[in-house]
Amino acid sequence: MNYFLNEMQQEIKDLAHRIAEEKIRPVVQELDESGEFPWEIMKILADSDLFGVYLPEEYGGLGGGVLEQLLVVEELSRVCSGVAVSYAASGLGAFPILLYGTEEQKKKYIPDIAAGKKLAAFGLTEANAGSDAAGIETTAVRDGDEYVLNGTKQWITNGGEAEIYTVVAMTDKKKGSRGASAFIVEKGTPGFSFGKKENKMGIRASTTRELIFNDCRIPRENLLGREGTGFMVAMKTLDKTRPGIGAQAVGIAQGALEEAVKYARERVQFGQPISSFQAIQHMLADMATQVEAARALVYATARMIDGGAKSFAKESAMAKVFASDVAMRVTTDAVQVFGGYGYMKEYPVEKMMRDAKITQIYEGTNQIQRNVIALQLVKEFAGKIYE
Ligand SMILES: Cc1cc2nc3c(=O)[nH]c(=O)nc-3n(C[C@H](O)[C@H](O)[C@H](O)COP(=O)(O)OP(=O)(O)OC[C@H]3O[C@@H](n4cnc5c(N)ncnc54)[C@H](O)[C@@H]3O)c2cc1C
Repeated sequence: MNYFLNEMQQEIKDLAHRIAEEKIRPVVQELDESGEFPWEIMKILADSDLFGVYLPEEYGGLGGGVLEQLLVVEELSRVCSGVAVSYAASGLGAFPILLYGTEEQKKKYIPDIAAGKKLAAFGLTEANAGSDAAGIETTAVRDGDEYVLNGTKQWITNGGEAEIYTVVAMTDKKKGSRGASAFIVEKGTPGFSFGKKENKMGIRASTTRELIFNDCRIPRENLLGREGTGFMVAMKTLDKTRPGIGAQAVGIAQGALEEAVKYARERVQFGQPISSFQAIQHMLADMATQVEAARALVYATARMIDGGAKSFAKESAMAKVFASDVAMRVTTDAVQVFGGYGYMKEYPVEKMMRDAKITQIYEGTNQIQRNVIALQLVKEFAGKIYE
């Protein structure tokens, strides 16, 4: 489908596509097996200026928006979503600074993120606080011109690899969700360490670790926004980045679809390619239709955000839910088209199926996203009745 991308968007998409084919595809299986962080590829993405596509020019970016970022995520995910999420998580760490940082904070941190010299990461989740983010127990206690952080963040993408962390901690537990604040913490700060690398089902090239704060002192000026606004910072950030999970899902599904069509044309049973069987044709047709519908919703949401919409929590959640459910279905069907070969690690679709699963879980599970959509629908409906 023609989405009428402008010249810059098409160039970004083509460049990400080329890098994915030439630099990532040859090492996909190796990265999946070793679980090694893809530093060499991060360097190539940095040298190609792709880390800054969505960041303002005044801080060293290319001046694009969410759509530009999603085009990169989608193209990388088509080949390896472990690499793609390592790239995208830097944006997740950067958005709180971009949205709520002071001019000094933006000038200090964004240019290095835009250049890909430093990766960023975002730390909200804890062992006892996943969907119920308001249950976080990490504390930040003010002590003169400093805050002292104590606690542990769990499953943080780019944990240990990134240099810049945006972290949410409780500054006033009594106030509940209004008692959280967001902070910037730099790697190397005394009292800040990392847990072991998690051994995951999919997106294995990405790193997932604990962030451990043990009397970690950070300067007061590392507070993002005001005290008590930590959850707002986190929620507004996630509203902007959730379509990125949608793009990751679209990329994975597109990759699986292409592999399935190719295989169906080559595999011969009963004296003919399996692509001649209507059962296979219909499966491929449904896969392609779902991928296109997911892409259309993800792009439309990105354009809505970049167009200056004030509120887009519902649409962001819809894009994430729809595209990730599509990715799970399409990758499962791709394995089916491959038959027994699809179940073998020598073929690419089993990795895609493993990778797809996480898109239904992180940045808010699909159950929680459906809650968000429904809540907003009810509110909108109430507004219409009473306005
Ligand atoms: C690989 C990976 C990378 C991650 N990266 C990051 C990161 O970079 N930064 C970060 O902060 N976090 C990160 N996370 C955490 C992720 O966002 C959480 O895992 C996710 O939000 C779900 O939380 P949970 O795992 O604790 O599940 P739980 O909240 O325990 O949920 C368990 C199940 O119960 C359901 N459930 C819970 N509450 C409700 C409800 N009210 N209504 C209906 N169903 C409900 C959920 O949908 C789910 O099916 C990452 C996680 C993984 C696995």
